[in-house]
Amino acid sequence: MGIVFKHSIYYTLYNIGKLNYTIMNNAEVAINLGQNCIEGGTILKKGITLSELLTQKDIEHDETAIKELRLILEQNQHLSHVGVVFILPQKEPNTGGVFRRVKIDENTVIPTVFIVSEDADHIKKLFNTRRSSAERIAKLLGINFEDMSPKLLRQFIIAHEFGHANDYVRNYEENPDYKGAEAAEEWGVHYEMNLQTMPVRGLDPVELQEEIANFQNLADFLNTYPEETKTINRDIIKSLEDLVKAQEQAYRSSEYERYADKFAIDFIRKNVQALNVTELQFMEK
Ligand SMILES: [Zn+2]
Repeated sequence: MGIVFKHSIYYTLYNIGKLNYTIMNNAEVAINLGQNCIEGGTILKKGITLSELLTQKDIEHDETAIKELRLILEQNQHLSHVGVVFILPQKEPNTGGVFRRVKIDENTVIPTVFIVSEDADHIKKLFNTRRSSAERIAKLLGINFEDMSPKLLRQFIIAHEFGHANDYVRNYEENPDYKGAEAAEEWGVHYEMNLQTMPVRGLDPVELQEEIANFQNLADFLNTYPEETKTINRDIIKSLEDLVKAQEQAYRSSEYERYADKFAIDFIRKNVQALNVTELQFMEK
């Protein structure tokens, strides 16, 4: 499985995951904060950079995200050029944020964090649709799942996506072995190799979730994917549900995800007061 390119008129956003397409195929993703706009599979204007965003004077809404982004920039000046795009919750019902590389031209790739705009219902829904993920986050932060507020979940997700951006900038962009767009290629290869170690190789958990919708049961799935019988543990995985769970676990514990998680935990712990994380303030007493 190679890197899939999706071409558009103005820019090309390329990546290997389907999440990427979800964003790009949404016809009317209206972007708030004015300058970012994705429409009809095309980025009409490139995402505003983190530093540009925060120098805008008239940012009034989404206080939680803006406050967090300010702290991220203050503490990580090397991420000032990372693109930030706000997307509508209706368009991304199953995630709070995504990290992608946006290819502008042959030599320019902008690491970009897509953040789902503040929406109380959306983030509450994530507690159910991404329950195992939310539970893992609570555990990482050392709090009870029941005590984690939607606000903290969202703060974690945003910090986690910047963790991916940090990985990309530090280990690829700033890597003297790679020149320009080569860094993006290398990141893609690394990401793809990571997915090859999953129980169902080459798919991220969201892609697998979409794929299994085409099958009645595990046996049915394995008829179409006979090779996967060799890589999944049939003693543990007895149903399609088990399969997705195993995929999610393998994905979450991969080096790539752990890097982003560590960045997020360090950031949140360091900024408990500034972010007003009441769950952790209480614990400190
Ligand atoms: Zn991640």
